[in-house]
Amino acid sequence: MNNVLIINTGGTIGMVRTPNGYAPKSGHLLEQLDAIPELHSKEMPVWELIETSPLLDSSNITVAEWNMIASIIVENYDRFDGFVVLHGTDTMAYTASALSFMLENLSKPVVLTGSQIPLCEIRSDGRDNVITSLIIAAERKVREVCLFFGGTLLRGNRATKYSADGLIAFVSPNYPSLAEAGISIKYNDTALFSPLSGKLKFHPFENVPIGVIKVFPGIQFSLFESIMTEKLRGIVIETFGAGNIPGDGNSLLPIIKRAFANGTVLTVCSQCPQGAVSLGAYETSGALKRAGAVSGLDLTTEAAVSKLYYLFSSGLDKEEVKKNMEIPLRGEMTVT
Ligand code: ASP
Repeated sequence: MNNVLIINTGGTIGMVRTPNGYAPKSGHLLEQLDAIPELHSKEMPVWELIETSPLLDSSNITVAEWNMIASIIVENYDRFDGFVVLHGTDTMAYTASALSFMLENLSKPVVLTGSQIPLCEIRSDGRDNVITSLIIAAERKVREVCLFFGGTLLRGNRATKYSADGLIAFVSPNYPSLAEAGISIKYNDTALFSPLSGKLKFHPFENVPIGVIKVFPGIQFSLFESIMTEKLRGIVIETFGAGNIPGDGNSLLPIIKRAFANGTVLTVCSQCPQGAVSLGAYETSGALKRAGAVSGLDLTTEAAVSKLYYLFSSGLDKEEVKKNMEIPLRGEMTVT
C-alpha cells in the first residue's frame, strides 16, 4: 500500500462560509476529509495531512509559501510515494509552475488540486478531485509537478486557469493532458517524463522584483517608464498574437532598450493562450527582438514569471537568464 502526504495550503476546497464570504479555517479540511468514507476505503492509499499556517486564499500566496511547500515535500520525500498539494484555484497554476522549477530531478508525483465549490457544500467538486489526485499520487506513474482538476491531469507548468466558475477550471493549451480520469485513469504515456537518474535538488526562490505588462490598443508606454528601472530584474510582456506590439508613435522600444541596458530581462509572451510567439514574423515584433527581448515561445505567463524567479534566484547573470528563458528546462515550452 502506497503512502501519500496531503499538504493543505488553503483555497476553496477547505473553506467555510463566513459573513464576509468563504475563508479558510484551520482543522476544517481534516473534518471534511474524515467524513468522506471512500478516503478510508482499503482501496485507497494511506494518507497523512499537513496544514500550512496560516491557511491562505491563494490570492495571498507569495514566494515565501512556494518555498515552504517545496521544503515540506523535500523534508518528507523519502517517507512518501507521492504528494497532493491542496491549493486555491486562483494561483494554482503559478504554484505548480514554481514547484516544477524548484524541484529538479523529481521522481515522484506532486499533484496540485483543489475545488471550485468547498467540500462543505453539497455540490462540491472537491471530493472527486481529492480522491483521484490521491490515487494518481500513489500510482507513481508521473514524475513531475502536475495539476489535477475536473477529470484531467495536466503538466503543472503548462496549465492555466481558464474558468472562474466552471468545474473544468484549467486547460493546457500547448501540451497534451498527462491523463484522463474516466471510468479508469488513462495515462498518456508519450506525454510523460521518462525516469531520471539524478538526485532530487531543491532550488529555493528569492523574492526577485519581476513585472508583467499586458499590451492593449492605445497603451501609453511612457506611463510604465517609472517602473522600468534597474531594480526590475525581469519583465513579461503579454503581447498581441505572435509577439506584436503597437508600433508607430509609441515609446516602448526606447524604454525596452534602456531596461535591457539596465539588466532587466524582457520576455515576450502572447495574450493568445494557444500557439507560440515568433519574434520577427512581423515588423511589429522584430523590433522587440532587436531591442534585446527574448521569446517566451509558448510559455504561459505563469510559467514565464516562475521561470524568471528560478533563473534569477540561481544567481545567473542577465545573458545566462536570457539564454535559459528560450530553453525548455522542465517541459514548460515547445521548441520546434
Ligand atoms: N479564491 C480561492 C483561492 O484561490 C478560489 C479557489 O480556491 O477556487 O484560494
